[in-house]
Amino acid sequence: MKIAALLLALILISCNANKTIQNPVQIDDIATPIASKPKTAKNIIFLIGDGMGIGQITAGTYSNGNTSHLERFPVIGLHKPYSGNELITDSAAAATSFACGFKTYNGAIGVDLDTLPIETILEEAEMKGLKTGLVATSTIVHATPASYIAHNKSRKNYEEIATDFLKTEIDFFIGGGKKFFDRREDERDLVAELEAKGYTMGNYLTDLSEFRSANSSATKIGYLTSDADPLPAAQGRDYLTDAAMYGIDFLDNSADNGFFIMIEGSQIDWGGHANNSDYIVTEFLDFNETIGRVLDWAEKDGETLVVVTADHETGGYTIQPGSTQDTLVTAFTTTKHSGDFINVFSYGPGSERFGGIFNNTDIYYKMREAYGWEKKRMVLE
Ligand SMILES: [Zn+2]
Repeated sequence: MKIAALLLALILISCNANKTIQNPVQIDDIATPIASKPKTAKNIIFLIGDGMGIGQITAGTYSNGNTSHLERFPVIGLHKPYSGNELITDSAAAATSFACGFKTYNGAIGVDLDTLPIETILEEAEMKGLKTGLVATSTIVHATPASYIAHNKSRKNYEEIATDFLKTEIDFFIGGGKKFFDRREDERDLVAELEAKGYTMGNYLTDLSEFRSANSSATKIGYLTSDADPLPAAQGRDYLTDAAMYGIDFLDNSADNGFFIMIEGSQIDWGGHANNSDYIVTEFLDFNETIGRVLDWAEKDGETLVVVTADHETGGYTIQPGSTQDTLVTAFTTTKHSGDFINVFSYGPGSERFGGIFNNTDIYYKMREAYGWEKKRMVLE
C-alpha cells in the first residue's frame, strides 16, 4: 500500500510539473503553431529519374543554362538506396522498396527476400478506390514500372510480368514493349485480353494525341509506344510529357478519391551504363520538361503531392576539373550503378515529410502517411 501511495504521489507531482511547464505557453495565441499537423494529399505523382544521381542533375542543370525545374521544389532530402542483399542496388529492388516499403534482393519485382509477393502502394490505392497509372520511357514491363503492378522472382521474366497487368485494375498505362503483350511464346494476345477486360488499347501506329482525342470517353487506357525498348530522346522519342499529362488529366477527371501515378524517365540510367554524357543530359532534359509540366499542374490543383527521386546513380558520373558551365568535362568510374545516396525533391501537401536523410523504403511509408492511410509496418524490415 505504501508503495502504491508513493507511486500515486509521484504521478500527481509529475502531472503538476507538466502543467506548470505547459501553462505559460499559450498555444492558441501563437499565430503559427510550433508543430503544425502534417497535411494530407488527395493525389500523389511520383517521378523517378532512373540512374539520376547528383552528377546527372548537375550536368543537366548546367547544360540547361544553369537551371532546372528541380529548383522549384521546397523540400529536399536524401535516401539510402542499398538493396536487401547488396550495397549497390538494381532498379528492380529499388523500385520494390518504393512500391512496397521493403528492401529485397536485386532483380526482385514486387516480392520479398523469400520471393513472396508484397502488396504495392499502387495495388493498395486501387483497393482504396483511388485511380492508378504508370508511364515510362522504357518498356512498361521493365523493372521500375513492373514493380508497382507485378510480382515476379525475376525482372527478366517480361512475358510473365505482362500477364500481371490483367490481374490488376490499373486505370492508365503508357510505355514500350508491345511484343511482350502480343508476340508471346505462349501465343496469348494480352492486348485483346485487356480490351475484353474493358481497356481501350492503342500503340505507336496511332499518334498519341490522335489516340487521346479519339478515345475521350474511355474508362481504362493502355498505350504501347514501341515493340521493344523505346528510342532515346535524342533519336526522336518525345512522348513522356504528353503521356504524363494525359495520365494525370485522365485520372484526375475520374478520381473522386484521388489518384496515384508513377512516371519514369527511364533512360538517364541507360546513358550512364553507356558512359555517354550527351545521352544522360538529353534524357535528363526530357525528364525535366515533364517535371515542369507536372509541377505547373500541381500548383494549380493544390491537393497533390509531387515527389521526384531516382532509384540509384548510374556510371559514377562526375563533373571534372577544367569544366565550365558551357563546356563540361565529365568522367565515369563504372558502367554499372554506384552506391551514392540519392536526392528526393518534394512539393505539395505532405511534402514536409520528405526532408532529411532516410531509407529508400521510407518513401513508401511517407507516401502512405501523406495519403492519411493507417499505419503499416513490415515485421521483417
Ligand atoms: Zn541500370
